Amino acid sequence: MTAFDVDLFVIGAGSGGVRAARIAAGYGAKVAIAEEFRFGGTCVIRGCVPKKLLVYASRFEEEFADAAGFGWSVGEPTFDWPKLIAAKDAEIARLEAIYQNVLARAGVDVFQERATIEGPNAIRLANSGRTITAAKILVATGAKPNLDAGLPGIEHVITSNEVFHLSEQPQRIVIAGGGYIAVEFASIFNGLGSDVTLLYRGEKILRGFDEDLRDALTSALQARGIRIITNDIFTNIEKTSDRITGTLKSGEVLQADQIMFAIGRTPNTGSLGLANAGVATHMSGAILVNDQSQSSTPSIYAVGDVTDRVALTPVAIREGHAFADSVFGKKSWSVDYNTIPTAVFSTPEIGTVGLPEHEALRAHGTIDVYKTSFRPMKAILAGRDERMFMKLIVDHASQRVVGVHIVGPDAAEIVQMAAIALRLGATKADFDATMALHPSAAEELVTLREKWVAPGEAAG
Ligand code: FAD
Ligand code: NDP
Repeated sequence: MTAFDVDLFVIGAGSGGVRAARIAAGYGAKVAIAEEFRFGGTCVIRGCVPKKLLVYASRFEEEFADAAGFGWSVGEPTFDWPKLIAAKDAEIARLEAIYQNVLARAGVDVFQERATIEGPNAIRLANSGRTITAAKILVATGAKPNLDAGLPGIEHVITSNEVFHLSEQPQRIVIAGGGYIAVEFASIFNGLGSDVTLLYRGEKILRGFDEDLRDALTSALQARGIRIITNDIFTNIEKTSDRITGTLKSGEVLQADQIMFAIGRTPNTGSLGLANAGVATHMSGAILVNDQSQSSTPSIYAVGDVTDRVALTPVAIREGHAFADSVFGKKSWSVDYNTIPTAVFSTPEIGTVGLPEHEALRAHGTIDVYKTSFRPMKAILAGRDERMFMKLIVDHASQRVVGVHIVGPDAAEIVQMAAIALRLGATKADFDATMALHPSAAEELVTLREKWVAPGEAAG
């Protein structure tokens, strides 16, 4: 018998929180969860899932165009933004209901309101004003989009929160940022026929990714008509009845129907009451946790984007699962952050797992690099002049493959499978000994024979 109202109170019913609540309840724990917005969290409601639906929508134009090379005649295609948004909303509502059912079936008590922390074992519910005591508290409140608060006119811009609900498709859009969200939405709107400008403060988009991927994607996006402005930022934004005008540091003035900011996300810890329980946070607001997701206050744990580890859905889910198994299931384990595969759903898309070349050099000293760039089979009859790029990075001493990087169709699907091989410690010889699947693009990964030699370097 516990002295508390519940064994576990979870704040936030997103990817990490729902998984943790369901698994803990499955072990017989008395679990409650609070959600202030919609069940499913960022990924389901305004992240991965609606984004991917928009990505699919944005790729049809090219399919219609390519079909002609294969003998098809397609009439003049037309696109209806409100119809897409309505279909997307219906699907998101369906998924949200599934999340609610999952919690109900698991016997979790659900509170549809904001929760804050009153103390190491106490939660306050904002609407009802109730206090609930809990043996353990799990903070899974996710993150929210950053805005450049000091920028004049910032109130006129949208973020990834609003972009899914625009009543009209912007014919001209400027997107600030050079990370995942900026690049993905630049491609989405480009594919849907909008005039897109990407504005990035640095030298080259997708900082941290392998340099070859950054270069290949930059060229491909430009070839598709996306204007990429680098080394620049907005200094002022103004709105008139029919447009938004953004002035850049360089002095250039950009006119658009929408300006979107995608400049990173901040953990949702503001006014959460963490100080009431002595929970330590990073300067960014992220909750500091150990490898068991436990905060500086032993009864309080945190998983997902609120902890500023790796902000991806499968990571939040696994952290939630590990927490529930370890604390309520007597099966202690922690998440392995090595070889996390990730994709940027631009068009063409990026799939990557393991170390980029610059990190592999730092980690392993001597590496072997294998690269190939080719025109995918489908592109030839389609008359599409776009190349697919693949790169393997191998630790010279052990011959283990430590990085797989792809730009091109289905890169995400290919890299998910390559991630298994990397995790198992596959060597280059294992890749070579694997029978090719023909005809496919992925077979290139097992037929790369020639080491890449930088121009000017003698072959060793
Ligand atoms: P969330 O899923 O954000 O859940 C947190 C929940 O807590 C929210 O529902 C919020 O309303 C609620 N909440 C916050 N404060 C309180 C409170 N005080 N009381 C009650 N409830 C509260 N990741 C991928 O892996 N692949 C992708 O393709 C991908 N695409 C993305 C696209 C976009 C546009 C965005 C924004 C993100 C994307 N991500 C993607 C990242 C992914 O969505 C997050 O990593 C993931 O959702 C994090 O899960 P979480 O459980 O930490 O938080
Ligand atoms: P990212 O961290 O990916 O990118 C942020 C971008 O904004 C960077 O280019 C950064 O530049 C730039 N930036 C940061 N601060 C400023 C500023 N003050 N002014 C101008 N530019 C700035 O964040 P996102 O918002 O794109 O996405 C958040 C996270 O969500 C991602 O990191 C990822 O973990 C997750 N996500 C995953 C997706 C997927 O798996 N496909 C899709 C979408 C999101 P710089 O590089 O110079 O710092």
